[in-house]
Amino acid sequence: MAKKKRIVIALGGNALGNTLPEQMTAVKITARAIVDLIEEGCEVVVAHGNGPQVGMVNNAMIALTHEDPQQPNTPLSVCVAMSQAYIGYDLQNALREELLDRNITDIPVATMITQVRVDENDEAFQNPSKPIGRFMTKEQADEMAAKYDYIMKEDSGRGYRRVVSSPRPQEIVEIGTIRTMVESGDLVIACGGGGIPVTRQGNHLKGASAVIDKDFASSLLARELDADFLIILTAVEKVAINYGKADEKWLDNITVEEAKQYMAEGHFAPGSMLPKVQAAVEFAESAPGRQALITLLEKAKDGILGHTGTMIGRG
Ligand code: ADP
Ligand code: MG
Repeated sequence: MAKKKRIVIALGGNALGNTLPEQMTAVKITARAIVDLIEEGCEVVVAHGNGPQVGMVNNAMIALTHEDPQQPNTPLSVCVAMSQAYIGYDLQNALREELLDRNITDIPVATMITQVRVDENDEAFQNPSKPIGRFMTKEQADEMAAKYDYIMKEDSGRGYRRVVSSPRPQEIVEIGTIRTMVESGDLVIACGGGGIPVTRQGNHLKGASAVIDKDFASSLLARELDADFLIILTAVEKVAINYGKADEKWLDNITVEEAKQYMAEGHFAPGSMLPKVQAAVEFAESAPGRQALITLLEKAKDGILGHTGTMIGRG
């Protein structure tokens, strides 16, 4: 029998919803798309983002410090850990149920609490750019900044939000255990929310105040697991050049070189499509035969069969 294709799937925000009830519903649809790929004979590893969820946990923990002055502020790394466990809990149960509903009884599902090392000298720490949590007035924002050392920024005329650093992932701390689980046939959820950001201080791993982009963390995970495919599932079926313009063109198969040229020409928005294309390119160029696909959650199976999505490969 031919070796199974190994796929790392990166789930975007729309795969998880924005509230607790939304997540419950969204993970069911997400589980169907993932189990479709397993039924196609693929070996799947799941990673996911946490934008809305980490903001939600952060707000809840701030409310706690307001209620009880004995409770110190919760570090962002701990908020990421909480979001990772909560999303993993919902996702792993939805996957388990979907597998059992299709009479697949030999694939255990497990979530790996994953720490990802970042470089403490990463320039992202000097330039926090990722908004999380709720919108505030200028007065509230000033109070938060004074009280917790938060960096608050005006977000496109809608109010003030906390912005956090988003450094590049350097190393997946639990990669050995993840690999063992994957090799033994488990369906593993790892690197949730981009992984819990840590820096290394001798033998000590220190939580970092940051949220790692899940697109980059999944690309590193896919390289470390020697995957055949990285599939980034998001809110668009394909990547476009001249996106939103009259001469918009949806891309099917492109080479790494073409992707680099389009990036240089500024076709992809920073913070949304650009990190996906960068992550896809980093994976595709890392070894022969590796390909990255960007498509809609509902089109994952069609995409892997070559019917849709934007595929990025060495050409
Ligand atoms: P996710 O939560 O999956 O990470 P994002 O919102 O960060 O999703 O990124 C996906 C979004 O990127 C799309 O919904 C689309 O609005 C936007 N986008 C920006 N530039 C492009 C482009 N060139 N082609 C397609 N989509 C683009
Ligand atoms: Mg995103």
